[in-house]
Amino acid sequence: MRFNQKRNLPRFILQWIVISFLLFLGARAFLQKDYVPDFEAYCPFGGVQALSSYFLNNSLACTMTTAQIAMGIMLIIGIILFSKLFCAFICPIGTISEWLGNLGDKFKVSIKISRSADLLLRSLKYILLFVTFYYTLDSNELFCKKFDPYYAVASGFSLDVVWYFALISISLVVIGSIIFRLFWCKYICPLGAISNILKFTWFFAAVVLLYALIRLTGTQFSYVWPLAVIAIGGYLLEIFGGKLNFFPVAKITRNESSCTNCQLCSRKCPQVIDVARMKVVTDVDCNLCGECLEVCPEKDTLQINRRSGLKWLPVIATIVKSSGFHPIRAHRNQMLWQFHCLRQQNERGQRSAGCCYLCHHPQGQSIV
Ligand code: SF4
Ligand code: SF4
Repeated sequence: MRFNQKRNLPRFILQWIVISFLLFLGARAFLQKDYVPDFEAYCPFGGVQALSSYFLNNSLACTMTTAQIAMGIMLIIGIILFSKLFCAFICPIGTISEWLGNLGDKFKVSIKISRSADLLLRSLKYILLFVTFYYTLDSNELFCKKFDPYYAVASGFSLDVVWYFALISISLVVIGSIIFRLFWCKYICPLGAISNILKFTWFFAAVVLLYALIRLTGTQFSYVWPLAVIAIGGYLLEIFGGKLNFFPVAKITRNESSCTNCQLCSRKCPQVIDVARMKVVTDVDCNLCGECLEVCPEKDTLQINRRSGLKWLPVIATIVKSSGFHPIRAHRNQMLWQFHCLRQQNERGQRSAGCCYLCHHPQGQSIV
């Protein structure tokens, strides 16, 4: 981290609040033997998968509840309106990757990835997105738990984790982030992939709508096809610079007449976006973190949607969104929507398949 530059204090504080909260949960679990921390309860990626399971299978994995569905919906709306605020302010893996990247810069071990390697590597997160959703929808198990570095560390490598997958993921986060800037976020993270696809809102909406219409006609049509179209289309739009003309609604804008071309914004951007050359930042990697806004020395040169009063919008939206998570989670058993996991559907004779593997998970008991 370059301490000689102005720090984006609200973001720094929010990131530390999240890391401290997770450390508190971990310490409490260690000290209080009867306490089972619900680390996955705040993961919106599980929410997007839960939403998909509900629409396609009318069922949820055992640990998923309406709370996760609500979080998934909030994530989707948040990305469409404000970009990837979860990645910018909340995600602990994103925060740690960024801090490790600063360490790599400081010790001069970081390497710049060539343009062609960058384009190729970006496909990995879309492949992982396809595999994750395919297995999650097919089995109603959250497949991401098998390799998710956050879940593996937070749960102390619980039974859901495949240890060699998780070790590879953790190595990619730690070593990858020190050597290559935001390696996990840019190239591996399936949440990053679905977030980028949601930024191409028209494309995503068109595929989902078309699939819904086909299903409404009663035609049997596997979800594998729209899933593949979304993953491949998202990748192609990302590498060929698909236009983000309208969505997300909030974007960084640069006033060319007051810009002195000092390049501070481009140098400070964690996503290595050349802000100083753009009138409107339409790069899919921009997550509205506000680092460029904070560092620009010229008043009202960098703004959000050319309005000076919107500087605090990303922070406020993140706080509002995040503070909604806790009451949703706290009331998850009282919420009106109730679902039956595969086990309960089996018991009611609604399914013939075997029971899902999380039936005996302690959190699974509280869903219905
Ligand atoms: S362009 Fe600005 S807001 Fe977007 S990622 Fe870079 S620093 Fe953050
Ligand atoms: S930091 Fe501000 S003045 Fe400097 S190049 Fe970026 S927009 Fe222009």
